[in-house]
Amino acid sequence: MSVHKTNKVSENDSIFASEAIEFQLPKFEMPADENNADVVKELIKDELFLDGNARQNLATFCQTYHDPQVHELMDLSISKNMIDKDEYPQTAEIESRCVHMLAKLWNAPDDAVGTSTVGSSEACMLGGMAMLYRWREQREKMGKDISKPNMVCGPVQVCWEKFARYWDVEIRQVPMEKDALYMTPEAMASYIDENTIGVVTTLGLTFTGKYEPVKALSDRLDQLQEETGLDVSIHVDGASGGFLAPFCAPDLEWDFRLARVKSISSSGHKFGLAPLGSGWVVWKHEADLPEKLIFHVNYLGGDMSVFQLNFSRPAGQVISQYYLFLRLGKEGYRKIHMNCYHTAQYLASELEKMDIFEILYNGDPNEGIPCVTWKLKEDSHVDFNLYDFAEKLRSRGWQVPAYSLPANVEDMIVQRVLVRRGVSLDMMSLLVEDIKRTIKYFETHAIVDHLTEEEVASFSHNK
Ligand SMILES: *Cc1c(COP(=O)(O)O)cnc(C)c1O
Repeated sequence: MSVHKTNKVSENDSIFASEAIEFQLPKFEMPADENNADVVKELIKDELFLDGNARQNLATFCQTYHDPQVHELMDLSISKNMIDKDEYPQTAEIESRCVHMLAKLWNAPDDAVGTSTVGSSEACMLGGMAMLYRWREQREKMGKDISKPNMVCGPVQVCWEKFARYWDVEIRQVPMEKDALYMTPEAMASYIDENTIGVVTTLGLTFTGKYEPVKALSDRLDQLQEETGLDVSIHVDGASGGFLAPFCAPDLEWDFRLARVKSISSSGHKFGLAPLGSGWVVWKHEADLPEKLIFHVNYLGGDMSVFQLNFSRPAGQVISQYYLFLRLGKEGYRKIHMNCYHTAQYLASELEKMDIFEILYNGDPNEGIPCVTWKLKEDSHVDFNLYDFAEKLRSRGWQVPAYSLPANVEDMIVQRVLVRRGVSLDMMSLLVEDIKRTIKYFETHAIVDHLTEEEVASFSHNK
């Protein structure tokens, strides 16, 4: 079956003059015949306009701007497979250099080990598995039951719920409270018992953008060990913070400086500034990664250990990460991220002046990631809710997610703007104008039927 009149573009036809362009792209069945490459590419490219403009997507933590050099390196490595250490030994060497640099950045000792991953989700999965296996090995040595593992955490990203479900680990999520939108040390301690495989703490909570107090949680675990003998280790989910705090809050103790932190994961494609598909996980000591989890492959006559979920994987992201480490250095990362913090602080101060919003987090580099989170003041007396507000902002292309918080503060609806490289102060000033315009609009246009979270569900805070 031919999907259109002819797939020939005659030599003189411009693309939109050709007969070949007069068809709708097939949606369910692969066409029987070949089609003109330029026509198909043009139509797919045009369909993608419906995705909106990634730079105006203020929901995502992921990179939406890349140096031309990164585009070139990605193009150059399009056929390189990260797993083929034999065929691409220099790519393997570059991955190893990146792991070393990250381990140093996170203050690990010399015998740290780590790997690149597709993103933080895979990195967290690996960190979680190592925690589970360490706990099992210890329990087995003591001849104790290993059938009921649990993990204790605060308001985590959805990847930890996946980890818990796939590995049959009970997830003990300390609920948020109105005056504590994170896991407090006291609350954490009350959820721990001998079946706890570890504590997962997040450096940059997806819901608010704030850092959890890793040092205070670690200190509380020290105290718990004195009280009960339980020796509980920590995995830090530093998806965002792992590439922020070392540059912008160097005195904050959250990493391998703390004895209990055994592993750290982070997303290269978030504040690591690498293209999508880049993540990292590092264990403090080789011994923190149970041998059972490692697969040994023969590599140029030597032994190469691998511990990843996928086999074949693109290498361009790792190569780009290495380019960024060298291109920017610590100072370059610091300057880019500090500009983002300043832009976030500008937005927070403008929102505050509007008098109807309560700022929950204002983009302080010592407290969290470059983002702003707010809610409507209880006495704001406006007619709109934040879902209405988000939807209206979307008419100007801005994607500013509104969502409810998890238990026990489900009633609290918040809105969040993520500032990453490419979201400039100038761009933010345009958003501020549109926010003011939107408030004015609602003053004169009564809302008949308020929007609900389900109706605007395409904005997910889990992004
Ligand atoms: C984004 C994020 C993840 C998931 O990371 P991906 O790189 O998208 O797989 C996990 N944890 C936190 C805290 C995150 O912000």
